[in-house]
Amino acid sequence: MANSDYQHVLNEIIAEVQPLLSEGKVADYIPALAEVDANQFSIAIYTTDGQTFCAGDCAQRFTIQSVSKVMTLTLALQRYGDELWQRVGKEPSGTAFNSLTQLEFEKGIPRNPFINAGAIVTCDALYSRLSAPMHTMLETFRELSGNKSITIDKKVANSEYEFRHRNAAMGHLMKSFGNFNNEVDDVLWAYFNFCAIELNCVELAKGYSFLANKGVCYLSGKRVLSSLQTKQLNSLLFTSGLYDAAGDFGYRVGMPGKSGVSGTILAVLPGKFTVAVYSPGLNSFGNSVAGIAALELLSKKLDISIF
Ligand code: GLN
Repeated sequence: MANSDYQHVLNEIIAEVQPLLSEGKVADYIPALAEVDANQFSIAIYTTDGQTFCAGDCAQRFTIQSVSKVMTLTLALQRYGDELWQRVGKEPSGTAFNSLTQLEFEKGIPRNPFINAGAIVTCDALYSRLSAPMHTMLETFRELSGNKSITIDKKVANSEYEFRHRNAAMGHLMKSFGNFNNEVDDVLWAYFNFCAIELNCVELAKGYSFLANKGVCYLSGKRVLSSLQTKQLNSLLFTSGLYDAAGDFGYRVGMPGKSGVSGTILAVLPGKFTVAVYSPGLNSFGNSVAGIAALELLSKKLDISIF
């Protein structure tokens, strides 16, 4: 498949997903997200040789929500290596992204770093090693995506913090088991700010280009993770990136991916490209309806997968 075909395929996809835009429901448990117009769609591919292909409203920014969990894990792996796995597991949860139930039975060790509890404990680990976590996270995205003006949507961060009770419950439960070192509210504030980083699809695909490139960011030339760590991270994304719908996503799309409740999904085709899609209407698992359909179409039309 020649690179020039990517644009053609993206144009086809955007036409084909139009009927789906009205199907999903925007996340409303975060009041600031409930105000978003559901009728939006954009998709961007960033290839490992630095080419960008985009369709839809490519300039439209959105908060990246749980797609930030991938960078949280990346920054934590840089600092802890495999030691991190003493505090968070590597198994699919089979439960919703915001579930608390397994924490009680598994002694405060979340199943994986991509459900909320796992991302929050990873954030706690990171918090212990960074003097200014929000600054570090923002600067990382600015450097890796090549846009120095990326910011945090403070309205969304504040809204999440105000309605933090469920995520706070997870933090306190982990603390009761001795798996939490900092003040829960301090870590949550950092976590919500990470989730509220605003990017468009092109910036999101560029920011995670290292996942397709054996750990090296194409734009900055910087090594972000080792080749081995990148393979490991992509493997975890495949098994857990879409929560209790990871199996269905893997079956339909054939690539590792990570979703967020704003309606964005990042997927990786190692050696070839990262792709980011945005459409705010969600299914009951909290994943973008049109986003999954678009990635499934991309996978079929290009006849690609990691297998
Ligand atoms: N900020 C969201 C939360 O903590 C992230 C969840 C998600 O994107 N699935 O609930």
